[in-house]
Amino acid sequence: MSILIVDDSRTSRGLLTAILHKAGHRQIVSAGSALDAFTRLGLDEGVSAVAEVDLILMDVTMPEIDGITALHRIHGDPRLRDVPVIMVTASADATDLKVAFDAGAFDYVTKPVNHIELLARVNSALRLKYEMDQRKAREEELVQVTKQLEAANQLLHHLSLTDGLTGVANRRHFDQVLMIEWTHARRTGTQLALLLIDIDYFKPYNDRYGHQAGDDCLRRVAAAFAGAVMRMGDLVARYGGEEFAIILPQIDREGACMIAERLRHAVMELAIHHPESSVRDVVTVSIGVAALVVGRDDSPARLITLADQALYQAKREGRNRVTTADTMISEVAL
Ligand code: GH3
Ligand code: MG
Ligand code: MG
Repeated sequence: MSILIVDDSRTSRGLLTAILHKAGHRQIVSAGSALDAFTRLGLDEGVSAVAEVDLILMDVTMPEIDGITALHRIHGDPRLRDVPVIMVTASADATDLKVAFDAGAFDYVTKPVNHIELLARVNSALRLKYEMDQRKAREEELVQVTKQLEAANQLLHHLSLTDGLTGVANRRHFDQVLMIEWTHARRTGTQLALLLIDIDYFKPYNDRYGHQAGDDCLRRVAAAFAGAVMRMGDLVARYGGEEFAIILPQIDREGACMIAERLRHAVMELAIHHPESSVRDVVTVSIGVAALVVGRDDSPARLITLADQALYQAKREGRNRVTTADTMISEVAL
């Protein structure tokens, strides 16, 4: 550990250095004035880093800037506040000592310096400094570990809400958001829309190209949905298997159908070759749309049922289309 000796007397500096050196302290720097000490500590204007010092031995009586004033200046810098300072003083006068301790001195030794006393005090100050450094390092480590833990928790939270295959929201996230949006729509009297989307003839696609190609198709379709849904509150989720669900808050049925049409086209534009499909030679989707002003007696399950019925109707009526619970609005465009 390193020690800075500040004393205007060359003899004193030499003596203190010799005692400490003999006791095994190897990193000793000395300064002949407070200003010199400030420079060595890195307190001069324009210097950004302070020196690594573990203990300062400070002569009290020095010309120009005395030891107490110097101590104030050094401990005034937050980066040096924890460096213990032992005052070296010719007087053991109680008033002088009080001034030194009030200024933040850790301890004092009187001149002429007694070797054993000096070393005992130096060692206890260094031990304290070492323990403080250790504690700070542990605190810093704890801060880092806490940060890592927070990041891991965030990741875990994200993963718990994300579908592993497609990266869109999973069913659990969908259920949570639907409940939140449902409550919000009921409180504000606004409309809430839900799209249920199913890939057409996906089983034949898997049978023809294999499960991995099927997974890849699911990923591309999910990405197309995520890219085509614009508003902040909208949520694209994988509802199960090859079904997706999209929550669209504050939108009426016509608006929801327009978005559904956009999604249906987005999937066709992917142009994923599908010769086994009976509607097109590319992968297509059928979409059921439900939108309602949430009333007292409604439930999220009703919204899902309506969208599901619409989807079933879209399938029955030929696939590759958007259907609402009661009206089919989009004909298959062959
Ligand atoms: P329809 O047009 O009536 O929807 O016909 P379909 O073949 O798409 O419907 P069906 O329900 O018979 O088949 C769905 C298929 O989706 C069955 C299954 O092989 C496939 N599938 C479901 N989940 C996954 C998945 O995670 N990965 C892959 N590759 N295929 C899946
Ligand atoms: Mg002096
Ligand atoms: Mg299907």
